[in-house]
Amino acid sequence: MVTFLGMPARAPRGVGHLRGDQPFPAAAREALANSQLRRNVGHATTTIRGKSAAVIGELPDWQQLREAGSAIKADVMARLPELLKQLEARVTEAGGVVHWAADANEANAIVTSLVRATGSDRVIKVKSMATQEIGLNEALEAAGIAAVETDLAELIVQLGRDKPSHILVPAIHRNRAEIREIFLRAMPGVDPALTDEPRVLAAAARRYLRETFLSTKVAVSGANFAIAETGTLAVVESEGNGRMCLTLPDTLITVMGIEKVLPTWQDLEVFLQLLPRSSTGERMNPYTTMWTGVTPGDGPQEFHLVLLDNGRSAVLADSVGRQALHCIRCSACLNVCPVYERTGGHAYGSVYPGPIGAVLSPQLTGIEDNASLPYASSLCGACFDACPVKINIPELLVHLRNQAPHPAAERAAMAAAAYTMDHPKLYAAAQRAAKLARIAGRRGQGLPRPLSGWTAARDLPELPKETFRQWWAKR
Ligand code: SF4
Repeated sequence: MVTFLGMPARAPRGVGHLRGDQPFPAAAREALANSQLRRNVGHATTTIRGKSAAVIGELPDWQQLREAGSAIKADVMARLPELLKQLEARVTEAGGVVHWAADANEANAIVTSLVRATGSDRVIKVKSMATQEIGLNEALEAAGIAAVETDLAELIVQLGRDKPSHILVPAIHRNRAEIREIFLRAMPGVDPALTDEPRVLAAAARRYLRETFLSTKVAVSGANFAIAETGTLAVVESEGNGRMCLTLPDTLITVMGIEKVLPTWQDLEVFLQLLPRSSTGERMNPYTTMWTGVTPGDGPQEFHLVLLDNGRSAVLADSVGRQALHCIRCSACLNVCPVYERTGGHAYGSVYPGPIGAVLSPQLTGIEDNASLPYASSLCGACFDACPVKINIPELLVHLRNQAPHPAAERAAMAAAAYTMDHPKLYAAAQRAAKLARIAGRRGQGLPRPLSGWTAARDLPELPKETFRQWWAKR
């Protein structure tokens, strides 16, 4: 592919976590063989689905809220450059510093140099998809800086030297017995008599983290929303670890995907209703932390905002595909997806699993690097129904399937079919041949090799006794 000046770049290879080691079908086959994983994921998604449906059912204007969320996001995408410049101006006026990162490498370099400048060799982290996407922890580690995850599920993943498998509940594939084992193996100073009671496990994590919160001077976070008109950043969470990270350290560095900006403070009202009900099944998330630049004598005295592109401009350039940037990372589409429920998140190879991962990752990386993901769906449409901002994921999946590179045999077969349909005599001959094949016993058996792959999961339609042409000729 030729690259021209001004052409938006994709997320670079060799850094971050947007590409898997193997295509989805191979990874899914391995995951399907793990019955413990299927039980853990099935149990967790069923529970979240039930809670979410109950609290959504309480709101008579849920559909209007979804419409409003969708309209606000469409407006944001239509004037993203203008809103980002407005955000930069407001954050700067409030005492923050804004950095622009074209990709994962730039963002990692910016954060690493900012941490180095503080003299600290450790950062505490609020759970953040953007920093997972760019592989920030690995970049910091390479620079001799330890990154400590403070969200309980992220901590389980980090201590277990594992990968997240769900946007919201990264350790969804682990049950409590497995978590107890990880804590006993990897958590410094843990009580050897630790049980697998959730309360006991949470208390062990709290003891381990408290000392780290109080002794670390730099925090790194993501952001759920940023308000262009005021320069305010917002993080929503359930455990209070985020509130500690965002208020206790001297320096706060926030890495945010450029699509997270909202025009006005009032827009937040819509998303603070949509997000908790769709994600954790709560009426309100327990902690909503908002900050605007720096406040003398209160909270971090140095604030940096890193605005991350990493392929997002390329997504924005596709008038159909850009819907994927509306995502507020609630994970409702994962929880209702029959494919995700059976394979879990690791099979998708990216930090963004499930239906949204199947449409976002291939667009951020370029379709060639994630060509199998748009096929990781039955196109049942459950994700579209569940999405609080009405992203038409099935439409995006089909759109991306059209862009995916197809095997040479399939391309040749399609070209031959197109040529045949373009030539009436040839088409009539092909119909007669197809009829003969049917008589020759292929009825109900699909196509012969090498085309058998096409009908392995599709029914070959039964040919009628008489074609339209024959019927027409009789008249
Ligand atoms: S695509 Fe929709 S349902 Fe899925 S995580 Fe994003 S906002 Fe939630």
